[in-house]
Amino acid sequence: MQYSSWVEIDLGAIQNNIHYIHDRSNVQVMAVVKANAYGHGMVPVARAALKSGVTWCGVARIEEALDFRQAGIECPLLLLGYTPPDRYTDAISRFISLTVWSREQIDIAEQVSMQTGIKARVHLKVDTGMNRLGVQVEDVILLARYLHAQKFISFEGVFTHFARADETDPNPTEQQERLFYQVIAALQAEGLCPPLIHAANSAASLTRPTAYFNLLRLGIAMYGLHPSPQCLLPQVFQPALTWKSVLSQVKILPAGRGVSYGHIYTTHKDELIGTIPVGYADGFRRTPGNIILVQGRRIPVVGRVCMDQIMVSLDAVPEAKTGEEVVLIGSQGEQTISAEEVARRWETINYEVTCGIGARVPRIYLPT
Ligand SMILES: *Cc1c(COP(=O)(O)O)cnc(C)c1O
Repeated sequence: MQYSSWVEIDLGAIQNNIHYIHDRSNVQVMAVVKANAYGHGMVPVARAALKSGVTWCGVARIEEALDFRQAGIECPLLLLGYTPPDRYTDAISRFISLTVWSREQIDIAEQVSMQTGIKARVHLKVDTGMNRLGVQVEDVILLARYLHAQKFISFEGVFTHFARADETDPNPTEQQERLFYQVIAALQAEGLCPPLIHAANSAASLTRPTAYFNLLRLGIAMYGLHPSPQCLLPQVFQPALTWKSVLSQVKILPAGRGVSYGHIYTTHKDELIGTIPVGYADGFRRTPGNIILVQGRRIPVVGRVCMDQIMVSLDAVPEAKTGEEVVLIGSQGEQTISAEEVARRWETINYEVTCGIGARVPRIYLPT
């Protein structure tokens, strides 16, 4: 056994998940691999995605984009978020497409293009109701004219982002979609519309063909994780991630022994206690009520979660031995603990659970 705690990634599952969306949509797909591919590992996921027909990748930060290029992957790459002005040269010189929503950003892109002799590639972000990032709908045309008038910039795309596509009520998304259609029509009327038009995240990719335009931005669904409890994936999707560790010690404690910091748990009889080398520094949260899989059974974590370790009560699995594998997220035997189940326990969403798996946890890729 090489590791204390590790994550196994089934890249084949990611490829199947992409195929399902790609085959049914008939438009290009962007693999959203920000945040280390939602904890799954940016470079291996991007390579696998590109093999299964994805044409674009998307990241959130310049640091991610530069790591991506550093790995030698040359596909079209969109930086979906904010790029500090001082980093425009880094981005443009490495053919990283930038998201812009202001004249100031367009000015910097034009200047850098002029200086470097490399055309900046930009996507105009339109705010149709997320109210996070983007040019307001009423200001799009002026900004698009400004962008179009630049000599050195390549105006590649226009996009928006949905705030509520994962909910049951379609109305808020329909309203955003309607606004975006109006923007596109106005751009087309003036001959300002760029080649790429995109709006759909995973939830919209699963539910709203009218929002496909010519590119989908696929994140959570690609990893086989449900966009939300109201927006579930079809059965054929498979989660790609399994989080594992091992039993580092197994011992019988007599009644009345306090376990872990603060002794918030005390044995009430002779009890079989296991120790596992994973903790909150790995992203395993310090919330009471954690459950893991040992010998294919659901086993309670007892006492406080430490930085690097947890303890479990093994009375239900008396055969458990030092050195054997345990599962924190994923399947073992007949049992499964999904990222969604863990998210409920931690009162958060599955996105935050897998993104939170620590950088020190090695990612291992199963043969495809
Ligand atoms: C993260 C992100 C996505 C992907 O969202 P999912 O819900 O994971 O599919 C798409 N577009 C933008 C702009 C994003 O920031």
